[in-house]
Amino acid sequence: MSVHALRRPDGAPPGRAHAALDVAALAALLPPGTVATDEASLAAAARDTSGWTDGTGPAAVVRPRTVEQVQHVLAFADAGRVPVVPRGAGSGLAGGASGTAGSIVLSTERLDRIVELSPADGVAVAEPGVVLADLDAAARRRGLFYAPDPASHRIATLGGSIATDAGGLRCVKYGVTRESVLALDVVLPGGRLLRTGHRSVKGVAGLDLTSLFVGSEGTLGVVVGATVRLRPVPAAQATLVGLFPDVPAAAAAVAALGVAPVSPALVELLGESAVASLRKRSSLPVLRAGQVLLLVRTDGYGAAAEADHVARVLAVHGGTVRLAADEAEAEALLDLRRTWGLDPDRRRLIGEDVAVPRSALVRIVTAVADIAARHGLDHSLAAHAGDGNLHPSFDVVGPDPRSEAELQRAALAAADELVAETLRLGGTVTGEHGIGVLKQRWLLDELGADSVALQHAVKAVFDPNGILNPGKGY
Ligand SMILES: Cc1cc2nc3c(=O)[nH]c(=O)nc-3n(C[C@H](O)[C@H](O)[C@H](O)COP(=O)(O)OP(=O)(O)OC[C@H]3O[C@@H](n4cnc5c(N)ncnc54)[C@H](O)[C@@H]3O)c2cc1C
Repeated sequence: MSVHALRRPDGAPPGRAHAALDVAALAALLPPGTVATDEASLAAAARDTSGWTDGTGPAAVVRPRTVEQVQHVLAFADAGRVPVVPRGAGSGLAGGASGTAGSIVLSTERLDRIVELSPADGVAVAEPGVVLADLDAAARRRGLFYAPDPASHRIATLGGSIATDAGGLRCVKYGVTRESVLALDVVLPGGRLLRTGHRSVKGVAGLDLTSLFVGSEGTLGVVVGATVRLRPVPAAQATLVGLFPDVPAAAAAVAALGVAPVSPALVELLGESAVASLRKRSSLPVLRAGQVLLLVRTDGYGAAAEADHVARVLAVHGGTVRLAADEAEAEALLDLRRTWGLDPDRRRLIGEDVAVPRSALVRIVTAVADIAARHGLDHSLAAHAGDGNLHPSFDVVGPDPRSEAELQRAALAAADELVAETLRLGGTVTGEHGIGVLKQRWLLDELGADSVALQHAVKAVFDPNGILNPGKGY
């Protein structure tokens, strides 16, 4: 059964409500310059970084500066049954922020203030358009840091990362975004402002609505403010580079780290093709070895001792290990890791975001290579390996006799097999990017019809007219 075969009790497809937008009436509610309908704005808002678009695109892009303006937009849209697509930086990889036919894309880019940084409480209060790296940098000036760090942290916004429950490099130790969000201000369809959560680290009053909004992909409300946890900057850190002969060997080492008495702050894996791609862009000596790369960082007072232990585990599993020459080399390697996918000679047909339990890492990386080979495709792999989250892509390198349609079919069949194997191993179709549009194909396989139907029922409570990000997510 397809996800869209599920219907709300009133018979309407989940989250679909649509009337033509009266742009002049909307603009009249907002300060001049808030509503844009120029071609460039509409084209840019029609897709996120995945490139997915419904082929038409939004009717307007709205860039409010205040919470009240967001409330006006959602009251207007709800009354007129106009779809609203919340949007941060548009760096999402699942189509979640792509503006769909006739919608209002509500961009948070001008809601970009860090309202407060409190070392005493270990929290920051910020607007949704704040870029994650800026929040982290501001916290560091006070001796604290913001842990969630998707590889896109220099562009991704706080609101977008909350709406996708973004992961990243450091979450192997510090947890995904959900574990850093204490309280939210959310504007609901109709314009009501809801406050969830609390400023204290602990708090269990009532159902956890904060968690419900985290990862809800803009389908329940628009996040207009967040109180997030900050942590003390670790006293020390050490970064290890492990070179392995192949991906399964590196994956076995990561699985072994999982049961060792260490808690690394980052465990990132780059497969042979990914390393080869990076070698074209960087002359870092470590890339010349042409092997599989594992980057492991330890932090805190015990960083050096933990790094020793990690090095021993990696060596036992066939790794050639050394400490990064200095912080500059460590940061350069991490920056390359963050941009691993950019290779002009490699055409990505499909990129995935599966996650498995750590103990299944060797089996899933072996499956990726087998599946690619069976479908006559190349593949590339980067992974937040420490938490079992893989980003394999099925690619074409060089000329291929198959037609574009045949290649697309092969890539999709490969992705289907990868997801099936992931679910067999107890994993998930998306570790951090979200369902958006592109992962909906596999949603029922993972969640089951009961769970999806319940999620539609929850959506109907928050958004009875189905105006928020219709057709996206669950
Ligand atoms: C090079 C690259 C590396 C990446 N690495 C990672 C990674 O390591 N980990 C990871 O998790 N992701 C990663 N991503 C994916 C993406 O960057 C993250 O999902 C990010 O959190 C999205 O933030 P954004 O501001 O761009 O959100 P958008 O792409 O603008 O939106 C994402 C979703 O959130 C919704 N949304 C946005 N703002 C709000 C709001 N204020 N209220 C309610 N809903 C909202 C949108 O409707 C959409 O569904 C990467 C992307 C790129 C391009």
